[in-house]
Amino acid sequence: MHIKRKMTLKTLMKRETFHKSIELQRKEYAEDVLTSEKLLRKLPNRLQEEFKELLENNGRISDEAADFIANIMKEWALSKNVYHYTHWFQPLHGEIAEKTSNFLIISGKSKVNVLCKDTLIKQETDGSSFPNGGLRSTFEARGYIIWDPKSPAFILNNSLCIPSLLISYKEEALDFKTPLLRAVEFVENAALKLTKLLIPETKYVRSLLGWEQEFFIFDKSILQARKDIEIAGRALIGLTDVKNHTHINHYFGKIPPRVLNFMEEAEKKSYELGIPIKTRHNEVAPNQFEFSYFFAETSLAIDHNQLFMEIMKQIATKHDLTVNFHEKPFRTFNGSGKHCNFSFQTDRGLNLYKRSGNFTENLLFLSMLAATISGIYKNGHILNASIASYENDLRLGGHEAPPNILSVFIVDDLHDFLVNKIQKSDKKLFTSTTCLPDILLDTHDRNRTSPFAYNGNRFEFRSVGSSVNCAEAMIALYTILGDEMNQMYEDITRKSEKLGLEESVLHAINEKIQTSQPILFKGDGYSADWVQEAKNRGLACFENCPDCIQKVLEDEQIQIYCRNGIFTPDEIKARYDVKLRKYKNKLKIETVILLEFVQQNILPVSEKYLYRLRKQNGKINCDDSRVENIQQLINELKTYSNQLANSQEFPQEQIETQESAVKLLQKIQSVCEKIEFFIPDKKWDILKNDELLHL
Ligand code: ADP
Ligand code: MG
Repeated sequence: MHIKRKMTLKTLMKRETFHKSIELQRKEYAEDVLTSEKLLRKLPNRLQEEFKELLENNGRISDEAADFIANIMKEWALSKNVYHYTHWFQPLHGEIAEKTSNFLIISGKSKVNVLCKDTLIKQETDGSSFPNGGLRSTFEARGYIIWDPKSPAFILNNSLCIPSLLISYKEEALDFKTPLLRAVEFVENAALKLTKLLIPETKYVRSLLGWEQEFFIFDKSILQARKDIEIAGRALIGLTDVKNHTHINHYFGKIPPRVLNFMEEAEKKSYELGIPIKTRHNEVAPNQFEFSYFFAETSLAIDHNQLFMEIMKQIATKHDLTVNFHEKPFRTFNGSGKHCNFSFQTDRGLNLYKRSGNFTENLLFLSMLAATISGIYKNGHILNASIASYENDLRLGGHEAPPNILSVFIVDDLHDFLVNKIQKSDKKLFTSTTCLPDILLDTHDRNRTSPFAYNGNRFEFRSVGSSVNCAEAMIALYTILGDEMNQMYEDITRKSEKLGLEESVLHAINEKIQTSQPILFKGDGYSADWVQEAKNRGLACFENCPDCIQKVLEDEQIQIYCRNGIFTPDEIKARYDVKLRKYKNKLKIETVILLEFVQQNILPVSEKYLYRLRKQNGKINCDDSRVENIQQLINELKTYSNQLANSQEFPQEQIETQESAVKLLQKIQSVCEKIEFFIPDKKWDILKNDELLHL
């Protein structure tokens, strides 16, 4: 047995596995956040209105207000013994980036702590060192980190963190937050226009997001023994079926004590940081869990998701654990997603995705529903491209994850209503509330194979991967929804002079629902029939991430970003370029790790064992079928790994090269699993999957 496997097993056996309740004494909710309420209280009256206006209706902040706020931030930080500030931003590599300085300024003999508007609002950085898809070259490197005044500053790791945007010298977006803010503003304005047609007194509409974050937990010590999990984030080798079958009761079962210790501490920290974590539970696969978030305004909810993922990683380490956000850590287990639940709400608290007892509100509800369904139908490739990745390719299409065919699931009674009754465009249908199906939250069914599900008061986008910044999916979604709502608004206003308002709204709903019928699907998303049927319906589907991006680039759909001011053509192309590079990089890393396992562990171990078997059989003169089987597997392994190694010589840009490399990886994985089955446990070098699931 290899020393690494031996040591790790020893460590695993020594772990104490009891639940230690953390101290109940809590700080206040959001005590470590400089919330807008706290900030407003400290601002002079004349600036309060300006800041409120900015929070409610966008706009630019004056120099005077920015200077005041900078000083309030600094004083608040110092009052908590915090002497550093960090501009905290979200570049395209998907991790959080930080630039930290201290408040101290030394001038001659005097030392003062200062944060002024200039340092708060703008920091300079090297824009070309972040993924930029060719937008920045090293010789024109300047990038700017810009303060986002709508997202509150908070204290983490002894520093005042200031949520920020990353843009280039030419103001091109180099991060997720910049286009997200554009898309949120765009969709909220579009939803407001549509809403005001029917409810003119509406002041604003906000987009709300609630995420469900799935993840796996392992003991930290397994990382030293399993390079694949440590670097690629998933098990490239190993049998897992046994443990899977013993964990039938894992879903919503009792959380293992060590994981509970970690979850409680993560929740405590999130409470102090004002991140409203709502639920924790075991997920379906062994070692898989979920935290879900009480929804908030989209941009804040995404900041919170990114921050919470960071906190989870830090706190897990304290408990000798490691959090794994990979979309598919094990080939045969359920993968992890980040379901994104979204809705729209007016200043009076009206949820625009919820059926109402009131005629006008119902019209609005059906308009929103129609715009959403139609937007998803028309812009399938855009949505697919927003969730496609190397890791998500491994997850989609199996084990309760949606397939890579876009469709929408609507609760049964509403589905029938939309498909049948609405065609009549009969005003009576809407005037009597009893005609609209009663969508009670607890009566709707679930469809775990559907990329989009309507849940009675929200839509859920289920294809989003667990490891990603979900801003990417929300940017795509809000762009298409805003575009569709704007079209609907124009359509209604054009027709309303002739038909009257209500009639033209009914017409618009009808038209959208009629034309987007093909996207509505309530059957089994995994069935072979559905693949064919979806093709006949012309729905957006894709083979893999590069294929998906190729489709969207060839398609006119990409224009939607540009005509609505979300991305310039260069920005959007750069993003797809970054995505493809990431894909190739992941594939390369996995190839190297797997070939290393094969050459350094699996082949030597299996050849040695084969040699012994042969010697032994020769002595006792018996015929052992194991010899033949192992020999054949070794031959296969050598052939496939040579082919994979050789494939690295071909141009990596070609989709065919990538596809064949992915297929070879799968073949090698499967042969390795078969070999593992034949080799006696004590001769096996690498930590086994069942062992790495030990908690
Ligand atoms: P389920 O497993 O049925 O999806 P969960 O309780 O795990 O239910 O998650 C529900 C998610 O939906 C939570 O993240 C919650 O914040 C979110 N959510 C509920 N209502 C809304 C809403 N009106 N708008 C946006 N998100 C919502
Ligand atoms: Mg859900």
